[in-house]
Amino acid sequence: MYDINQVREDFPILSRQIYNRPLVYLDNGATTQKPRCVVEAMVDEYYNVNANVHRGVHFLSQKATDLHEASRETVRRFINARSTNEILFTRGTTESINLLAFSFGEAFIKQGDEIIVSTMEHHSNIVPWQMVCERKGAVLRVIPMTDEGILCMDEYKSLLSERTKLVCCAHVSNVMGTVNPVREVIAEAHKHDIPVLIDGAQSTPHFKVDMQELDCDFFAFSGHKIYAPTGVGVLYGKEAWLEQLPPYQGGGEMIKNVSFEKTTYNELPYKFEAGTPDYVATHALAVALDYVSALGMDNIYQHEQMLTRYAREQMAQIPDMKFFGPSHDAVISFQVGNIHHLDMGTLLDRLGIAVRTGHHCAEPLMHRLGIEGTVRASFGLYNTREEVDALVAGIRRVAQMF
Ligand code: PMP
Repeated sequence: MYDINQVREDFPILSRQIYNRPLVYLDNGATTQKPRCVVEAMVDEYYNVNANVHRGVHFLSQKATDLHEASRETVRRFINARSTNEILFTRGTTESINLLAFSFGEAFIKQGDEIIVSTMEHHSNIVPWQMVCERKGAVLRVIPMTDEGILCMDEYKSLLSERTKLVCCAHVSNVMGTVNPVREVIAEAHKHDIPVLIDGAQSTPHFKVDMQELDCDFFAFSGHKIYAPTGVGVLYGKEAWLEQLPPYQGGGEMIKNVSFEKTTYNELPYKFEAGTPDYVATHALAVALDYVSALGMDNIYQHEQMLTRYAREQMAQIPDMKFFGPSHDAVISFQVGNIHHLDMGTLLDRLGIAVRTGHHCAEPLMHRLGIEGTVRASFGLYNTREEVDALVAGIRRVAQMF
């Protein structure tokens, strides 16, 4: 384990007050706060290194390029990919999935094909696939789930057929904290030679992910959810797949030669990285990954498990508390009696407690649960038991007001 008080000192924002109360930040599923080392890395790069990457012979350009490419290696190591050719920098999970949807859709999806997603996907792992289906005349199929928020694996297996071209599944539900059995999801699809995309937006920040062990074909995550800046994310893809996919966007960087008659494309990973990348953010992403690695992903997992279990126990004692999903991991969605989620969120905010309310970009999941929204508390590596106590006391106080 790590020293939580010392860790909190790394995050300047955690010591600020909201409405004259200490900030209790429990919206980590939406985005995480940044440690000083990440912000300082960005400031330092802009003050001392800044130059465009890849095309400069001068000192600063080479230095910036070195930082950018070293970050790719840090990401590779962090998710245990085989090669840096498999690490594509994007703006985030959403862009990673859109990249794949466009390129995979162009190469492999035709009329009558099927793409499988699950009931609990974030909109960003639904809508890009619906757009492909519309463009290509393909069909979206959905893995059902139980009332408890667990995927129905038998139904999943029976959805797989020769029409299935891709399976897309969240590693962890951003609403219910369900950790899906993705190894089984992947293994079952592979029995039919079907590739699998895992949306790792909500898993990567909380426990160790290993591409070679999971054996997924594609994996997407966002930097800002793992203590890195906004505007940077990753699409991992097995090299053999990426080689077969056409580029996503055209422009500088992604080409080998351009003429008006014919353009040839760059090699991996640059074929998918048109234009100037956010090289300051990629460097800061590597600093963030080094930061969490130094704390230890297993330690972060233990700490957040402790918090999640403690919070569920304490919250379960509040009258009329209803939970949505199993909260396997760092996320608790709830409602108290018929108090509207927006009222609960707004009143908790007045107590300095930041939670998220609403449909959490998962409207189909809300329909399945028969609700319009939930209140969601989500934990990060810096949260404490005292903050859970503050949340529980805050919920009780709001409940009494109603
Ligand atoms: N998938 C999941 C499971 C998420 O929780 C989120 C962010 N809430 C996304 C995708 C989209 O991530 P981003 O907005 O960083 O692209």
